[in-house]
Amino acid sequence: MKKRVVALIMCIMFLLGGCQAEAAKNEERTTYLFAMDTTMTIRVFGGSDELMQSLQKRVNGIENEVSVTREGSDIYRLNHEGSTNAAPDTEVIMNRALKICEDTEGALDVSVYPVVREWGFTTGEYHVPSQEKLEELIAFVDYKKVEPTEEGFRIPDGMAVDLGSVTKGYTGDVLAEMIRSDGVKSAILDLGGNIHTVGKKINGSFWRVAVRSPEGTGLVGVLEVADEAVITSGGYERFFEDEDGNIWWHIIDPATGYPAKNGVISMTIVGREGIRCDALSTALFVMGPERAAEYWRAHGDFEMIMITDSGDLFITPALNERFTPDAAMPYHVKVLG
Ligand code: AMP
Ligand code: MG
Repeated sequence: MKKRVVALIMCIMFLLGGCQAEAAKNEERTTYLFAMDTTMTIRVFGGSDELMQSLQKRVNGIENEVSVTREGSDIYRLNHEGSTNAAPDTEVIMNRALKICEDTEGALDVSVYPVVREWGFTTGEYHVPSQEKLEELIAFVDYKKVEPTEEGFRIPDGMAVDLGSVTKGYTGDVLAEMIRSDGVKSAILDLGGNIHTVGKKINGSFWRVAVRSPEGTGLVGVLEVADEAVITSGGYERFFEDEDGNIWWHIIDPATGYPAKNGVISMTIVGREGIRCDALSTALFVMGPERAAEYWRAHGDFEMIMITDSGDLFITPALNERFTPDAAMPYHVKVLG
């Protein structure tokens, strides 16, 4: 009898030990950092302190190479000297971005930077430029003139490049890959509102990602995702109001030099590849509702939620299956076909 009790206790202790080992294996590690002009939160379940440090280092490394404002970055050199050698990250980001500039017929244009700067979006000294000034500046906007060289890239005088519309998406891809290679099965990264997920939650359920309302402080709903990025471009992210009460935001239509006001107020793209989602969130915001829907129909390799100033929330059919609208949100849900 005694022997049985001892065996039972040992058995329970063994099981508890197993549970503890399991818990330790999935232990949550969270790193907060400020980089790329935004706050980032990296939550990894499992992994190691070394992994967390290397993730942080990698973010800083990418920023040092492609920051438009940091002296000595590849992009800073390109903009100030007309040419640069390119670190591997710079090369990958630039080439991928240029391809999407082409695919979106210039709705994304990495050379729109002089216009963005003129409006004050890089300095915070906002003002509405004159029509003449904008015309003068858009004459220099043309991603086709970014030329690859032996070691990097070259641009003509007067032109300047900014990879800010895609860099966070790329960074999420790189970090997610590092996390996966380390054998980790579950992680969620918030890179300034861009969400990247690795696997599902530890308990096997989908990650639940909130989509922010472009007006007010609430959310429009929650998406269930796994191994995907959820990336939003919104007019509400950075904007100013002029003396006449007009709102001007940071997403520019490269064709006019003015902030894109084609009816879209928020564009969320969901997909496997963060850099593509990031590029498309900006580009499809610029395109406006009809062209954006057309682009989705023609490609179909991503999902989207598009909110318009007429009060509609357009969603792709497969994503609608994974979307729970918030009870209080004011938009009319319309499924794209
Ligand atoms: P995102 O937040 O990803 O939509 O990127 C917006 C940022 O990209 C802005 O703050 C600008 O620096 C830059 N940008 C604005 N309009 C464009 C555009 N049409 N193409 C490429 N970059 C842009
Ligand atoms: Mg973007």
